[in-house]
Amino acid sequence: MQYDVIVVGGGSGGCAAAIRCTDLGMKVALIEKRRKGGIGGTCINRGCIPTKVLMKSMNVLDEIRDSSKFGIEVEGYKVDFKKIMAKKDKIMKQMAFGLGAFVLKPRGIEIIYGDALLKDRNTVAVKDGDADTEYTGKYIVVATGSEPLEIPVFKIDRKNVITSDEALTLQEVPETMLIIGAGPIGIELGMFYSSMGCETTIVEMMDCAAPLLKDAELSAIVEKALKKKGIKVLVGTGVEGIRVIEDGKVESSLSNGEKTVTEKVLVSIGRKKNTDSIGMEAVGIEMERGLICVDETLKTNIDNIYAVGDIVSGPQLSHKAQFDGAVVAENINGNRMAVDYRSIPWAIFSEPEVAKVGLSKAEAQAEGINVLEGTLKMAANEKASCMQSTEGMIKIAVDADTRKIIGSSIVAHDASTLIGEMALAVKNGITIEEFNLTVHAHPTLNEALFEAGKSVTGKGYHK
Ligand SMILES: Cc1cc2nc3c(=O)[nH]c(=O)nc-3n(C[C@H](O)[C@H](O)[C@H](O)COP(=O)(O)OP(=O)(O)OC[C@H]3O[C@@H](n4cnc5c(N)ncnc54)[C@H](O)[C@@H]3O)c2cc1C
Repeated sequence: MQYDVIVVGGGSGGCAAAIRCTDLGMKVALIEKRRKGGIGGTCINRGCIPTKVLMKSMNVLDEIRDSSKFGIEVEGYKVDFKKIMAKKDKIMKQMAFGLGAFVLKPRGIEIIYGDALLKDRNTVAVKDGDADTEYTGKYIVVATGSEPLEIPVFKIDRKNVITSDEALTLQEVPETMLIIGAGPIGIELGMFYSSMGCETTIVEMMDCAAPLLKDAELSAIVEKALKKKGIKVLVGTGVEGIRVIEDGKVESSLSNGEKTVTEKVLVSIGRKKNTDSIGMEAVGIEMERGLICVDETLKTNIDNIYAVGDIVSGPQLSHKAQFDGAVVAENINGNRMAVDYRSIPWAIFSEPEVAKVGLSKAEAQAEGINVLEGTLKMAANEKASCMQSTEGMIKIAVDADTRKIIGSSIVAHDASTLIGEMALAVKNGITIEEFNLTVHAHPTLNEALFEAGKSVTGKGYHK
C-alpha cells in the first residue's frame, strides 16, 4: 500500500503529525503497536491523563479534609480507591475512543495495528501476530515515544518494584512505598498515594525536590509542601540497591547508610526512548545517546524521514510532541518551519502546582545574561487569600539589556494555568514594561504575575 506519509506511533506526536498532514491534503497511515492503550500513546493511556484524574481525586479529598476552615463540616466521608481507579480508566477510554472516532477516522487516517520496522527509506514492515505486511510512503515520521527507564541496579519486577505504568493500575493502596526520584512523576504519584493513606518516602539524588526548576528557593517550597502532606523527603540521597525480600517487602539501601523496607518501590528516574528496535540502523539514521538526531525542521539525516516527540531532543512533554508533529507536517508540505523549545512551558500537577517556562535567574546567569528578577509570594495575592491557597511564589526573569521577559518559574495553586501567560510573554519577546502595562482582572491569581512583573521595575505594591 502506498501513502504520502507513514507515521509510526499513535501518541501525542504521531497523532498531531497525522492530523495536520491529512488536513494539508496528504494520504496518511498511522501505525501503532498496541491495540489496547495505543492510540493516544503514553499521554492518554499511561501518563498525563491518568495522573491528572488521580490528582483531581486528591484535590477533592484535600478540600474535604480542609473544609472546616471554610466553615463546612463534612462527616462520614469514605475513600473508595477502586472507584477512583475505575473512574480514571473510564476517562482514559473515553479520550482514546474520542481521538480515534471523532478526530482520526473522520479525516480518513488509516490506523494500522502492529509492530513497525523500517526496512528502507520508503518502506515500513508491520508485524501483527503472524502477519507481516509492507507499506510504502513518500515520507516517514517516526514517533515511537518512550517507556519507563529501567536500569540493572533497580530490577523492576512490576509487582513489588514498579514503574509509573504499574503505579497507575494498582487496585489497593500500598501501606508503604518508597519512590525513587523527586521529578514530576515522583511528586505527583507521591502526593496522590500519600493522600490515599500510603506511608510515602521520596528519595532524590539531587540536592533538592523538583530539580528541573533550577531554583533552590522554589524547590524548598515544593519540599515543604511534600512534607506537609506527610511525605518523608530525602534529598541528596541515592538508592544504591533494591532487594525483594518477599512479596510485599522490598529493602532499599540508601547512600546515607539507611535501609528501608517498604511494600512497594516506585522507580521514577526518567524515560527510555523507543529507538532501539525500529530499524534506525538499517536505514542509516543518525543517533546520539538513544535520541534520533534531527535538524531544526525535525528532519533526520535521511531526506524524507522525520522524527518527533520524546525520541528527539527537547523536553519530554505531550504538548511539545504535538508541536513537533505539527511542525513536521508543515515541513513535509513545503512550508519551512523550525522548532524553538525556549518557550515550551511545563508543569507538575501537585498542590501547590509547579510550572516553568524559559530560564530561571540561575540558568540565565550561567548563560552570561545580565538578569533582573521580579518575585511575589502568593501570600500577597488577594485571590489566593480568598481561596486560602497562599503557599508558593512567582518569579520572573528579565534580560536587563533587552528588557525582554526570558523566563518565569511558579509554585502556586493553579500554576499550570498561570504559566500560559508567561509562555506568551517569553515566546513573543514581550518587554517587562509592556507586560506591566497589561491590566489584569481583579481579584485573580494572575494579578500575582502582574505584581511580580512590577517588582522588577520597583513599582509593585509589595516589597
Ligand atoms: C506518568 C506520566 C505522566 C506524564 N504527565 C505529563 C503531563 O502532565 N504533561 C505532559 O505534557 N507530559 C506528561 N507526560 C509525558 C508525555 O506523556 C510524553 O511526553 C508524550 O506522551 C510523548 O509523546 P510521543 O508521541 O513522543 O510518544 P508516546 O506518547 O510514548 O507514543 C508513542 C507510541 O508509539 C508506539 N510505538 C512504539 N514503538 C512502536 C513500533 N515499533 N511500532 C508501532 N508503534 C510503536 C507506542 O505504543 C506509543 O503508543 C507524562 C508521562 C508519564 C509517564
